[in-house]
Amino acid sequence: MKTTGVMVNPVAFEGKYAGDGCRGGNERVVDMRSDTPPEHCYPKGLPLSNAAMSQLAGFDPAEIPAEDEALRPEVRAFLAHHLNGLRAETRARSWSGYDPALSRALGARGWLGITLPREYGGSGRSAYARYVLVEEFLCAGAPVGSHWIADRQSGPLILKYGTEAQKQFHLPKICRGESFFCIGMSEPSSGSDLASVRTRARRNDAGWLLNGRKIWTTNAHHCHYMIALVRTSGEPGDRHQGLSQLIVDLSLPGVTVRPITDLAGDRHFCEVFFDDVQLGPEALIGAEGQGWAQVTAELAYERSGPERIYSSMVVFDEWLAWIRTPAGHSASATRLAGRIASHLAPLRAMSIAVTAQLSAGQSPVVEAALVKDLGTSLEQQIPALIADDLASREDPSTVPAELLATLAYTTRIAPSFSLRGGTREILRGMIARGLGLR
Ligand SMILES: Cc1cc2nc3c(=O)[nH]c(=O)nc-3n(C[C@H](O)[C@H](O)[C@H](O)COP(=O)(O)OP(=O)(O)OC[C@H]3O[C@@H](n4cnc5c(N)ncnc54)[C@H](O)[C@@H]3O)c2cc1C
Repeated sequence: MKTTGVMVNPVAFEGKYAGDGCRGGNERVVDMRSDTPPEHCYPKGLPLSNAAMSQLAGFDPAEIPAEDEALRPEVRAFLAHHLNGLRAETRARSWSGYDPALSRALGARGWLGITLPREYGGSGRSAYARYVLVEEFLCAGAPVGSHWIADRQSGPLILKYGTEAQKQFHLPKICRGESFFCIGMSEPSSGSDLASVRTRARRNDAGWLLNGRKIWTTNAHHCHYMIALVRTSGEPGDRHQGLSQLIVDLSLPGVTVRPITDLAGDRHFCEVFFDDVQLGPEALIGAEGQGWAQVTAELAYERSGPERIYSSMVVFDEWLAWIRTPAGHSASATRLAGRIASHLAPLRAMSIAVTAQLSAGQSPVVEAALVKDLGTSLEQQIPALIADDLASREDPSTVPAELLATLAYTTRIAPSFSLRGGTREILRGMIARGLGLR
């Protein structure tokens, strides 16, 4: 990973993960403030069954092939040119940032939908190629939010479950950066308990009549389409039965999108209301009633990528640049930087291992949950640790204003890292079940 002016290369740390600290019972909490190694990290005799151990075998180390690594210099040069002059505080938004012109420029280079087949406008490259791209986008803080969901999960979902007509219609536009998608899963009383969704589509002569409401929908106000999880038969009490996914054209009459202001003052997620929205029969994606299985597979794409590790990378980078200057240098800051890098390296290796599984056609749901839980914990600690370091300085006036502004933004949004894409508690429940511990 190249960070501006500073090299933090997780690859160089691979295999050197020295372990972490623990706080309380079975909960593993990394304590990077302490220089003292913890006495133990696991309760003695943790009952990991054979099934659990084979589950963890999913983290077999995988390497990014040389032909995909070869993309990096070109991507860096492109980003250095396009992001020139963009403030760190703005770049810290990265996959929450919105820049449709950048998305179109990336599409023109074949860097959107890079894993999709050429016949649908993609580049037919591997998931590793996408990993390299995304890693570079996030570390540079490129505002990639406009195409993010379409590139990450809607495109692959349409490729997997869509009809030929849906693929021909949607995929080329996604690859050109002309069609943006959002995720319509959460509702006001269905977040963690997603199976209880109440938004309903009833079949009629024209197709599907949609009524209901979604919430926290990232970038809905900028998107052309939503892939919505809705009830097409039965009642909310029927849980996983009777759910389907629909592609909803957000320009249709009856759709109302209201942005919500977040803690940082940004308006990036929305409430979306559907009042008698008439969809055609072609809106259904996949099989009617199979929505739950489809959504579960989609979540593995959503949870394991570099975006669950690098959300605090821009502020980390700004801080690293400062502690390399005479004004910012301190021995304790250098040690802290090393500790953060040594935690990043194994997380990156785990995330790449999940990418290997996804590209082999597997559905590593538990592994993806592990990456997200550990990754977002680190992402949340980075701004807190940097704030501690800055607060300990004798002369705080030497801290650059841009670093402070970037830190303030990252600190405000950090709580959302372990909410979006499934909360920490829900992921830990899944992990415990997957390991046979509950
Ligand atoms: C920045 C951001 C972007 C988002 N973008 C999208 C989006 O684009 N599309 C979309 O559909 N959603 C989106 N979400 C919504 C997100 O998926 C939900 O917030 C999340 O799933 C939690 O649901 P909830 O907010 O209803 O909380 P709740 O489910 O009400 O949970 C409240 C608290 O109770 C805990 N809890 C709930 N059930 C259990 C349980 N069984 N065991 C233990 N603890 C439990 C939770 O962990 C949480 O701490 C976004 C959220 C954020 C913060």
